Amino acid sequence: MPPPPTPPSSRILVVEDESVLAELVETNLAAEGFAVVVATDGETALERHAAHPADLIVLDLGLPGIGGFEVLRALRRKQDKVPVLILTSRAGSEDRIQGLHYGADDYLSKPFAMLELVARIRAILRRAGPPEAAKRALVSGPFKINLVQFTVHRGRVDLNLSMKEFRLLEVMTAHPGRVHSRQDLVNLAWEHDARPTLRTVDKHIQTLRRKLGDSDEHPVIQTLEREGYRWLLPVH
Ligand code: CA
Repeated sequence: MPPPPTPPSSRILVVEDESVLAELVETNLAAEGFAVVVATDGETALERHAAHPADLIVLDLGLPGIGGFEVLRALRRKQDKVPVLILTSRAGSEDRIQGLHYGADDYLSKPFAMLELVARIRAILRRAGPPEAAKRALVSGPFKINLVQFTVHRGRVDLNLSMKEFRLLEVMTAHPGRVHSRQDLVNLAWEHDARPTLRTVDKHIQTLRRKLGDSDEHPVIQTLEREGYRWLLPVH
């Protein structure tokens, strides 16, 4: 029996300039079933979030360029209520008070236990309600993507994607133009205890492309032999 469809996962934007920590958080949250996006500076974080809203932002304070507080203020100025968990090595209570004053939802000091971060994220998301993806339908080129019903239509035609194909499409359309390595796709589109080979990823992408009518004339997904795959159409 095929496994039951997984609901769209909550999208977490991790804003952290220390690459080792960012990767550690990304890996752990992805293993918990979250769709994770990393930004290493504040401006990129705001751009990513504007392009494809996160359900929760894990926000470091000390960042190159605009700092974490400024990111938070920019969001709240725009009436954006996305939950924000501040993650910082600044241990002072003043920062904590300032963060909460600017509208942060929670605050965790480094070093922290990964389990605690995950528990806090889950608690905030429970309060926040259904993930952003569940509220949204996307349009990309000729395709209408319904993130609640897991369907993709071209015009009125349902392209009948398998759940795996849908997950791959969902992951790639979350970041159009970004190259997704096969391993990234495995991490984000498969259950965390599944161990598909990278060749399996290629096979699913192949059938996905066929269903999408991807061709040289109408390219949808680009293959980069070593690097992975890239969704080429803009997503709205
Ligand atoms: Ca930092």
